[in-house]
Amino acid sequence: MDYDLLVRRGRVVDGSGLPSFVADVGVKNGKIVEIGRLKGSAGRTIDAEGLAVAPGFIDHHTHLDAQMLWDPYGTCEPQHGVTTVIMGNCGLALAPVKTGDEDSLVKSFVRVEAIPRFALEQGVKWAWHSYGEYLDNFEGKLGINVGGLVGHIAVRHHAMGEEAVERKATAKEVQQMRGLVLEAMEGGALGMSTNRNERHMREDGKPVSSRLADDDELFALCDVLADRNAGVIETILGRNKIEHFEFYRALAQRTQRPILWQSLQHRWAEPELWREQLDAVERIFRDGYQAYGLSHTVPLVRRFDLKNCQVFDEFPTWKNLFFLPEIVRKQALADPQTRQKMRNDLADPRPTNFHRRWDIVRVEKVVKPENQPYVGKTIAEMASMRGQDPLDAFLNLALDEDLATVFWNSNNGGDVEAMGEILRSPYVLIGTSDAGAHVQFGADFGYCTVLLGMWVRERRVMSLEQAIYKLTFHVASIFGLQDRGLLRPGFAADLTLFDPKTVNSYEPEWATDYPAGSKRLIQRSEGIHYTIVNGKVIVENGQTSGELPGQVLRGPLYRRQKAAA
Ligand SMILES: [Zn+2]
Repeated sequence: MDYDLLVRRGRVVDGSGLPSFVADVGVKNGKIVEIGRLKGSAGRTIDAEGLAVAPGFIDHHTHLDAQMLWDPYGTCEPQHGVTTVIMGNCGLALAPVKTGDEDSLVKSFVRVEAIPRFALEQGVKWAWHSYGEYLDNFEGKLGINVGGLVGHIAVRHHAMGEEAVERKATAKEVQQMRGLVLEAMEGGALGMSTNRNERHMREDGKPVSSRLADDDELFALCDVLADRNAGVIETILGRNKIEHFEFYRALAQRTQRPILWQSLQHRWAEPELWREQLDAVERIFRDGYQAYGLSHTVPLVRRFDLKNCQVFDEFPTWKNLFFLPEIVRKQALADPQTRQKMRNDLADPRPTNFHRRWDIVRVEKVVKPENQPYVGKTIAEMASMRGQDPLDAFLNLALDEDLATVFWNSNNGGDVEAMGEILRSPYVLIGTSDAGAHVQFGADFGYCTVLLGMWVRERRVMSLEQAIYKLTFHVASIFGLQDRGLLRPGFAADLTLFDPKTVNSYEPEWATDYPAGSKRLIQRSEGIHYTIVNGKVIVENGQTSGELPGQVLRGPLYRRQKAAA
């Protein structure tokens, strides 16, 4: 047999960004061996005519640290063409850990990443201490490939115990943490992550431990990666501020490692911020340092009615109204004086997430037949149809329907031109799926299929070749994943076969596949025909095969040590 697997006559989009071409791809022993017009015999042949054949997608921003322990596929990752996931982002990881400290890590995961405590308690069997041992735990048990970053939060707890959430570290503790980071890198971590987001607390209301680290501590830990010339540094600093770029520059310049920062997206509330961010990051790259911004492909959309609504929580008068009993709330919403206060709230110029624009909020669903003409219209359009002021029109319609009218709003990712520029930027790393996190609030497993369906096919913001490059080789290069992200002889046979004419994501839906049947949101896809990991088909038309060909992808320090030994 010449090949274990032969993929015939697909359109090869090889991950490099070069123009695609029709060819066969021959696979043997988990690797790509030949691409072109192939004549040999094969154990299995897949007819890929009409399909794109791309390297498997690499989801670099996940919080699957726990889920991968009970779900070897990281469902729904491969259903969207993902063959490799990276865990340990935003400072959170399940290692290193000392016996007795496990719950400090759980407390952080439960709140910051909103993973049900019950699922963590049932699903995580703490059979490791070091980061390397944690990774060992996955060997032979994976459907997809897994790599990880070592989390600052875990490192700090290991060195300081519960005092990690109370105070600055001593010089001795910083030294200890440096040792733990080095040990994790030697054990196979792909880098380190940290978290300074002012909103990130533990379950008990205490800040996550990395928030108590000063610059000296953080830089000392990052120096370990610089000294060894290995790994990425992933950061989350909280609300986007232009001042943060001084910090990214300092860190990138000092370590000469790739810095990843969150996040770069068009937001209606600050419609110019993305451009300032892109300009700032371009200056860092021009000077020769790497500071990649993370961006998302899925616009943040919320549907709401005025029975149950959090969209306006940033405005005190509005927020209070939504805590009133419905009958009282309806009276207040009809009251001209209350309306004036609501108007004043919206006019207050302080920065908010809500954009305060009635030409963006839309009517999605009405109750009364006579209101049908407003469906799909923006509040501004509906107001002019009714000859009313927009706020009055919005409230009057809702009151007329007993608050059951459904509205649609999007704060982020809505401006096509801006999003096109962001997604195309060479300084932007696409993907903040947060897979494995916020599992009862949303599911963005589909950021790759959304890129290919909405942004490439429908909105044409970039070519298919460029999009595939962004989902594969771009990521593999930055994270130092050897032999992945390109279709080339000698590279791992991680492949995604999809139909560019139909590929897309569905709306998230509820599932009960977490430990002990706990609820979470999943997301299905369309147009992904086959997902292949290390030469084995793991998903065929939405169904997983049961094969476990996934590998633990360990970082450069581990590989160097192994090569030396
Ligand atoms: Zn994250």
